Amino acid sequence: MISTHAPVDYRCPFCAIAGGAEVSCVVAQSPGAIAVIALGQVPTNKGGLLVFPKEHIESLLCAPEETIAECMALSKLVAQALVTSLTCEGVTLRQNNGPASGQDVWHFHIHVVPRWKDDQWGKESHQNMPESERVALAEVIRGGLATHG
Ligand SMILES: [Zn+2]
Repeated sequence: MISTHAPVDYRCPFCAIAGGAEVSCVVAQSPGAIAVIALGQVPTNKGGLLVFPKEHIESLLCAPEETIAECMALSKLVAQALVTSLTCEGVTLRQNNGPASGQDVWHFHIHVVPRWKDDQWGKESHQNMPESERVALAEVIRGGLATHG
C-alpha cells in the first residue's frame, strides 16, 4: 500500500489552480493536465513551470499510466515553449515523490525549468515571484507555444 502524506484537512493548492484560481498564470493545458508558472523561482532561471494533472493524485507512485503520459506530453510542449520564448539552452525536468525526496505539495507535479550554461539552478534557493511578474512571464511563454494549423 502506498502511504499518504497529505494531512486529512489538506487544502490542495494545485486543485485550486485546476479549478480556476490563477488563470492568468496558466501557460498551457490539455484535457487532463495543466501547466502554470511556479510561485517559487530561482533568480537565474526565471520561467520555471509546474505541470500536473487536473485530478487530485498525490504522487507518481499512485498515478495511472495515462495520467503520467499526458503530463509528460504537456511537459514536452511547454519545454519547447521555454526554448522558443526564453531562448534557454536546455530544460530540466524534476519530479519528487514523498517527503524524503523534497515533495512539499501533495499533488503529483513535474517541475519544468529553463536552463542556461553555467546557471545557478540547484545552488541558489527559490524565491516567491510576485504575481504581476508571474502573469507577465506566462504571457511571454505562451507566445512560444507551437501553433497547430
Ligand atoms: Zn490536488
